[in-house]
Amino acid sequence: MTAAAPKTPDRWSLESWFTAFAAPDYVIFKAALADDVEALKTWAKSISAAPKDMADLICAVEALSDRLGHLSAYLGCLSADDANDEAVKADEAWMSTLDAESVKLRATLQSALAAMTNSAFEELLAEPSLKGADHAVKRMRIEGKQQMAAELESLAADLNVNGLHAWGRLYDTLSGKMVFDMIFPDGHTESVPMARRRALMSEPDRKLREAAFHAGQKPWIDHADTLASGLNGIAGTRLSLYGRRGVPHFLDTPLFDGAMSRASLDAMLEAIHANIELPRRALRTAARLQGTSALHFFDLEAPQVAAPEEKPLSWDDACASVEKAFSSAYPRLGNYFRDLLRDRWIEAQPRPGKRPGAFCTGSQLKHEERIYMTWHGTVHDMVTLAHEAGHAWHSCVLRPARSFAANYPMTLAETASNFGEMILLDGLMSDPGMTPEIKAYLLDQEMLRAHAYLINIPMRYEFEKAFYTERANGEVPVSRLSELMEDAQRKLYGDTLLADGTDPMFWASKMHFFITGVSFYNFPYVFGYLLSQALFARFKAEGADFLPRYEAFLAATGSATCEEVVKRTLGADLTDPEFWATALKAIEPTLLAYEQLK
Ligand SMILES: [Zn+2]
Repeated sequence: MTAAAPKTPDRWSLESWFTAFAAPDYVIFKAALADDVEALKTWAKSISAAPKDMADLICAVEALSDRLGHLSAYLGCLSADDANDEAVKADEAWMSTLDAESVKLRATLQSALAAMTNSAFEELLAEPSLKGADHAVKRMRIEGKQQMAAELESLAADLNVNGLHAWGRLYDTLSGKMVFDMIFPDGHTESVPMARRRALMSEPDRKLREAAFHAGQKPWIDHADTLASGLNGIAGTRLSLYGRRGVPHFLDTPLFDGAMSRASLDAMLEAIHANIELPRRALRTAARLQGTSALHFFDLEAPQVAAPEEKPLSWDDACASVEKAFSSAYPRLGNYFRDLLRDRWIEAQPRPGKRPGAFCTGSQLKHEERIYMTWHGTVHDMVTLAHEAGHAWHSCVLRPARSFAANYPMTLAETASNFGEMILLDGLMSDPGMTPEIKAYLLDQEMLRAHAYLINIPMRYEFEKAFYTERANGEVPVSRLSELMEDAQRKLYGDTLLADGTDPMFWASKMHFFITGVSFYNFPYVFGYLLSQALFARFKAEGADFLPRYEAFLAATGSATCEEVVKRTLGADLTDPEFWATALKAIEPTLLAYEQLK
């Protein structure tokens, strides 16, 4: 017998959710769901203010949300698995109309909660059927209080389709069609789609990055006026709506979405600015490794240590490495990972037609998780596997909670995934079997992440905050947008960027600024990164004794604000800059090792 070829990963199993797409159980489920959304909408419109009735409606909405989430997650899995399946796409479109109806249902419920007197609301919270749901119910009441009259909200929703979201779609269309002529370092010229620019700017060859950066600036400059109109339109619409809804500050809504306070956000940023030299040292090392005095913007996402290019990693070896790292540091996580593999809850098989990217999803109806990714045999894929397994473990820990206490905000979402990644990386770094090349590569990747979370994303925040502040007084012209962008870059990067190394058009080329579904898309990622650094540092210091508290933290993420969750389970104060400074300083040992690289 010849040696076994590296096994390709199994496909996932979704049969416990539905027998198959369009099978009888699926069809019945779908029809009943549509009927029940309508029935609940009618019920909500005529709801009495009696706490008992209101509690019944809330529980019914919660149960309905579980079913909506179940079908939506199922369709999400199928469409990622085969991006060309038109029947699945049609059901996804149907699902989004149903979701829009359920948003209206929620809005009616929120208004009813907002209209309750304080004493009736207290009575409602004391209803036994709402035990554990008080955080979610309080949030619905706050949302209700921040709504305009129902007909105005409905008008705003309709106008947003053609206004706010239309600006976002225009951005996607315009940027999606952009191409630029680029002279490659070998002298040949090629017309390059803008979507490739970022990959070119992550290439190890500096000349290639430089060429892609400069040639790729042209379309952004050519379309600057249109893009500035879009950005001003998006921010202007939001500011008008905030005014009408009585929301005092443009940060209030993103903070509410993140379930965190302004004091915590300010404390986090204060700590970053006070300790900015720490992540800057990583950039200085990167400049030294590439042999320049400082970096250009086109150097920022490039690896300084090439990925180890030996034979591709096999799926089985990668799973074994993750399992080993998890089991030795955190046995319960290791067991869970084995279950994920045994039950075929991971889709990783490389196949044409699969959508790129990775995610973790799940069903609160079935209390099951699923991981989606595509295995290409790289170390990076292995880290992705650990990341998504961290997310899945978070959902697993939350299984006993009712679903209104199992929905956590973006700010707390990335903690568990980063924790999973860090356990793997820590395991690999201390594994004598790992080559120095792989270790150097992992160090470099870690420092790229530190730069992204501690310098680049805070820079985006500085820009957006300055822009929204000026936008409140009128439209902000192209020249000023570029000026604000460069100011923000200088503020965060300092002298780690070359004198001509800024990117004044970043306000246009960064798609995140044009996302219309959420505002200030970026800062929750910094929050998640630093919080996971803090948790992991404690784990390293306290060992296995820390793990029950880590699980208490995960279990509480859907039932209180970030401040309360962290105070209650970890005894820490998020509004104290010292907490964030300590979290940030946790990168120091990795940084010191990185600085030793030749
Ligand atoms: Zn994630």
